[in-house]
Amino acid sequence: MKLVVVGAAGRMGRTLINLICQTDGVVLHAAVERPGSPALGRDAGELAGAGTLGVAVTDDPLSAFLHADGVIDFTSPASTVEFAALAAQARIVHIIGTTGCLPEHEDKIDAAARHARVVKSGNMSLGVNLLSVLIKQAAKALGASDWDIEVLEMHHKHKVDAPSGTALLLGQAAADGRGIDLTSHSVRVRDGHTGPREEGSIGFATLRGGSVIGEHTVLFASEGETVTLSHSATDRSLFARGALRAAVWAFGKKPGRYTMLDVLGLNS
Ligand code: NAP
Repeated sequence: MKLVVVGAAGRMGRTLINLICQTDGVVLHAAVERPGSPALGRDAGELAGAGTLGVAVTDDPLSAFLHADGVIDFTSPASTVEFAALAAQARIVHIIGTTGCLPEHEDKIDAAARHARVVKSGNMSLGVNLLSVLIKQAAKALGASDWDIEVLEMHHKHKVDAPSGTALLLGQAAADGRGIDLTSHSVRVRDGHTGPREEGSIGFATLRGGSVIGEHTVLFASEGETVTLSHSATDRSLFARGALRAAVWAFGKKPGRYTMLDVLGLNS
């Protein structure tokens, strides 16, 4: 399968290029960075520390997608929307790990998924997706009147969006378990005299610092007891492995929008 990595010079981009080099059945077809990037023209393998590959980093996604089978995208919401339109035009697989997408970005990705095979997830790891299934079950089993749900996350100091895509994915799983809408029940920030906790709300708390790859905890708190479900990421290659698995899975599928739960067979 011929894959394009967009955002090739980024933390995830370089991890993906390395992993593609070590994985049978996939090859790096092209590597894309934004116009003006110092990485343009450099060998993508050398950039990623994987040795010379003979693939120069380009700022022309249209040509890069032309004869490719799929694109892997861990960039920014505005860029992802542009790549989604191009992937739809080329009718290829588009794996989206980018987080922080707003409803208007999601609408454009939905439109692109009429022609492309799109897999989008705030977290590509098996562990977090399994955790989301457990959280949905726990939220369903534990009543909202007796149990409060709080989602806590920590990431490295360079992360630009909050709460993390994974925190929102886990919050969504809790909301699905309760059969409620997440947006109207979530409390993203607390500051000052907030009053008592609103029953049935789902709280989020965000920590940033150092080089932390991703720590997530969902707390179910009741009178006298707390249930804690957690996930720790210690190496970003686990997200890259999930993204490659998604690309290979989506290759033979019909155009449409899928999640990692579909890829991992956890969507019951
Ligand atoms: P990063 O190091 O900043 O990498 C992003 C790269 O994309 C940068 O090199 C950036 O270039 C490039 N880029 C932005 N717009 C572009 C464009 N139009 N064309 C080509 N390249 C473009 O960030 P990261 O840590 O790799 O994370 C990237 C995204 O993935 C974030 O949204 C993060 O939250 C998400 N993420 C998701 C998962 C998951 O499992 N779903 C896991 C890890 C990270 P510039 O620096 O020049 O802007």
